Amino acid sequence: MTSTSANYQLLINGELRDAERGAIFVVDDPATESVVAEVACASVSDLEAAVSAARVAFDQGPWPRLAPFARGRVLQAIADGIRTRFDELAQLETRCGGKTLANSRNEVDASARVFEYYAGSADKFFGDTIPMGADVLDFTLREPIGVVAQITPWNFPLLAASWKTAPALACGCAIILKPASYTPITSLILGQIALAAGIPPGVFNVLPGPGGELGNKIARHPMINKIAFTGETRTGAELLKQSADDIKRVSLELGGKSPNIVFADADLDKAASAAVSGAFGNAGQSCSARTRLFVERGILETFTKRLINSTAQFRVGDPMAHDTSMGPLISSSSWHTVNDYVEGAVAEGADLLCGGGRPAGLSEGHYFSPTVLANANNDMRAAREEIFGPVVVMIPFDDETDAIAMANDNEYGLNASVWSRDVGKAVRVARALQCGMVSVNSNGSASRYGLFAPFGGHKKSGLGRELSMRALELYTEEKNIFIDHSG
Ligand code: NDP
Repeated sequence: MTSTSANYQLLINGELRDAERGAIFVVDDPATESVVAEVACASVSDLEAAVSAARVAFDQGPWPRLAPFARGRVLQAIADGIRTRFDELAQLETRCGGKTLANSRNEVDASARVFEYYAGSADKFFGDTIPMGADVLDFTLREPIGVVAQITPWNFPLLAASWKTAPALACGCAIILKPASYTPITSLILGQIALAAGIPPGVFNVLPGPGGELGNKIARHPMINKIAFTGETRTGAELLKQSADDIKRVSLELGGKSPNIVFADADLDKAASAAVSGAFGNAGQSCSARTRLFVERGILETFTKRLINSTAQFRVGDPMAHDTSMGPLISSSSWHTVNDYVEGAVAEGADLLCGGGRPAGLSEGHYFSPTVLANANNDMRAAREEIFGPVVVMIPFDDETDAIAMANDNEYGLNASVWSRDVGKAVRVARALQCGMVSVNSNGSASRYGLFAPFGGHKKSGLGRELSMRALELYTEEKNIFIDHSG
């Protein structure tokens, strides 16, 4: 850390500022391992300033008191602002996170669409009228929850920030956004766009900084009403524990180990190609990655050939190049973790059908080859734990019951895919799976089609639902009003 002025500053109370102690951290490009920018690094004293500003903005400022349609107009202006800075945002997303430019462009577009959706939702989130009798009127109000801390991961930086900030702003909350340290820049730009769009000072604060230090303070801060977190299950559980004394409202989007179930009667070409993009998209660094591939025993050989062919077409390389399917992993430590899982699976008896380690010809950057492990079982460590890299574990199954039992035998429950031409079977399996989202004959990519359906997990994959009108429930408290007007 140095004490010169940062390329990107904190956003507190409507002002861009260096950190109070002048601290700075460096954001690297995982493809080239070179420095992208220096970013101001918030400490607890900066957090205190942001919380105070948010508290004043919420308790006394205009934002929560504005007519909902007027808040919606500001959200629409934020969407427009994202589109105006589209190329800059997409390039930064790729340079800091290593995702392909095509993926980054989809995600910037999806981020703008999220703001457009919540711009339209602000005045359509109704309460209920409860029939109780001729002399009484009973109805519910949805009131903004207050000051919200939102903590986001590095794998979908701008998109995760948009999923969280747009519904909170639509409800009239004031926010403190804590982006991941690997990828803070697009969240800082989002804050600047929000200010330019008319968000009042103090309503939208952005504080990059060390997650452990700021997170501990956020969890116990008496002036923060709610925490919305996306990240690892371990971190989410810790936040939940630390915030329990205050009965703080907490929503969590956590890890996954999602099953992809391919029945013999499926369109095998489509299923194989989707198995590859579902497991290796974003270099496998996705909570929704379909990393356990269950294949009906009778088609194991023919499906494996298709899978290996599709994997061979998945090009690893410079994420800025237009024909790249997959860029590098986020960091060197992540590379070594992924490699350990692969070596461990082979030691446990799995066959390495392709991949493993660094792809030929890429000597710098945290690149890892798309990896298929076969002859595996559901008890291997690589089949139980979230690897967060481009590794798929292929496991044969005998019948519907067997597939469901193995798919459910995991502590996570985020997504699943089912591939079959038999609609009855696909629906039976979808209903039996213990997870928050099931796609039939699809990967159900949330950024392409599912943006406006509820997103979240069962079991250790999370608590609460983001996106859709459901997300507005996360940022409001419900009040019931009973009026006796009998006179
Ligand atoms: P982490 O849990 O390491 O970090 C997530 C965020 O939490 C970062 O901003 C991090 O800050 C911060 N943080 C770190 N320690 C603490 C703490 N003690 N208290 C509060 N905040 C803290 O996750 P990753 O960034 O590695 O993200 C990957 C994980 O996110 C995967 O498990 C993935 O499955 C999950 N995820 C889930 C999604 C879902 O919707 N279910 C979507 C996307 C990802 P810093 O960067 O400074 O450490």
